[in-house]
Amino acid sequence: MSIVIPTPVNEPILSYAPGTPERAALKARLAEMSAEQVEIPLIIGGEEVRTGDMVDVTSPQNHGHVLARAHRAGPAEVKRAIEASLDAHHAWSTMRWEDRAAIFLKAAELLATTWRQTINGATVLNLGKTAHQSEIDAACELIDFLRFNLHFAEKIFAEQPVSAPGMWNRTEYRPLEGFVYAVTPFNFTAIGGNLTSAPAMLGNTVVWKPSDHALLTGYYTMRLFEEAGLPGGVINFVPGDPVMVTEEVMGHRDFAGLHFTGSTSVFQALWKKAGENLPNYRSYPRLVGETGGKDFIIAHPSADVDAVRTAITRGAFEFQGQKCSAASRAYIPASMWAELEGPLVAEVESISMGDPGDFSNFMGAVIHKGAFDKIAGYIDRARASSDAKILAGGTYDDSTGYFVRPTLILSGTPTYESMCEEIFGPVMTLYVYPDAEWSETLDLVDRTSPYGLTGAVFSRDRDAAREAMERLRFAAGNFYVNDKPTGAVVGQQPFGGSRASGTNDKAGSALNLLRWLSPRSIKETLVPPTDYRYPFMAAE
Ligand code: NAD
Repeated sequence: MSIVIPTPVNEPILSYAPGTPERAALKARLAEMSAEQVEIPLIIGGEEVRTGDMVDVTSPQNHGHVLARAHRAGPAEVKRAIEASLDAHHAWSTMRWEDRAAIFLKAAELLATTWRQTINGATVLNLGKTAHQSEIDAACELIDFLRFNLHFAEKIFAEQPVSAPGMWNRTEYRPLEGFVYAVTPFNFTAIGGNLTSAPAMLGNTVVWKPSDHALLTGYYTMRLFEEAGLPGGVINFVPGDPVMVTEEVMGHRDFAGLHFTGSTSVFQALWKKAGENLPNYRSYPRLVGETGGKDFIIAHPSADVDAVRTAITRGAFEFQGQKCSAASRAYIPASMWAELEGPLVAEVESISMGDPGDFSNFMGAVIHKGAFDKIAGYIDRARASSDAKILAGGTYDDSTGYFVRPTLILSGTPTYESMCEEIFGPVMTLYVYPDAEWSETLDLVDRTSPYGLTGAVFSRDRDAAREAMERLRFAAGNFYVNDKPTGAVVGQQPFGGSRASGTNDKAGSALNLLRWLSPRSIKETLVPPTDYRYPFMAAE
């Protein structure tokens, strides 16, 4: 029987415009979720585990609002989670592919229907996303990850070797031997769901350490998988101190792979740890990490000024600049600057910011106090620097939530700190270059930061666009021509960057799935030889 996974199409994005049913549904769910306080247990081997070592889960837009209280793992629970994942490995990895696939298809369907506003609501409240940003992340992107990855896996499985006469050759796509460690960031609910489910759908079992700043979204994602029928032990949800959890997990002999998204420095530390422990592991662990960025927009003198302005505003400030792909440096030709500056400053000053539960807001608050302080530091230093000038925003207030006004900095030098370093907040730094130095400016874009995640060129001149594509070949793993550098869609623009931005294994594609497979080549000889002598040895 040949199994065919339903051909995926990208989940349609609901508008949440006034009068739509989805707007009413999300508002109703937000009201309910705002009024309750959820207790979040660990989930190990399908069982709820309570340690009593608890943290408050609060809302970025109102840090006094405790949304949930979460139990944190100690070393004993982490060990238990590892054992649970190893115990589940045999039954899960030998379960028929169509049965595993059906579980994740069901998870996608539940998320598209009855669970949509729970996961969206958690994303608004816990991460500070607007209705639109939640919809494109927590609903649509996660649904797409699930459906498309199943489809890509099926294509991988279909890839089989040729067989010479008298034999049958096969490739068996085994999961890794051991367990996979998923370490997920705060900023996308879909990433939490994907870093766990992508290895799991291929037969791996997973220990999941969610971000401390995304525990409500992580918990509901785990519940969604359970509701879809995921057996206990396949994904084990273990919030806890990141260093302690990692010590336990990466010190274990059966640690077989790391599926990480987060900052560059943390990934580098985890890579080193894997290197140090290498002789103790059963296999060479797969290390997959998507990390930081310093994503750029470069405008050619021929570019449409309104398109450049819109890309800067949307690319830099949606979700408060906390997308790994967010534009955070822009290079504008002097001839365009006079026309761009006034309208851009006015547009940025007009951005509505506040509680995303009020749908008139375009922006919410940044995720936590550490992020707020870091961003405020960049703004304060820019205000004091003779190399930089704040053109818009530049104010911040954490009395109720961690609010930072969208900020434009004009830099007098292309190497000013906010042109080079990842800030991960609503700060865009602009550098105005002489029109005659277009090619030199492309080289400047290429060498200014250690990252290589996303970037965009705006140009109506085809030769200039071509030159940018060539000179910036290694500057971005996701490159945009006349579009903002954010908003990659599963199945359309597979996502990831190289250099310091990660291993570029392209989340939501076959390339990523291949990292969680350890193929076995099987040769079966149909009628085996019974005489060791070859024909050439026979007498003349
Ligand atoms: P983060 O690095 O602070 O945290 C990521 C995860 O690592 C969390 O689960 C955290 O608890 C864990 N962690 C932190 N310190 C650790 C340690 N010492 N040992 C083990 N684990 C540790 O990142 P974040 O603030 O959650 O997310 C923002 C970062 O993620 C940005 O740098 C952003 O560019 C990056 N990001 C990249 C992509 C991509 O696809 N390239 C996507 C999203 C986010």
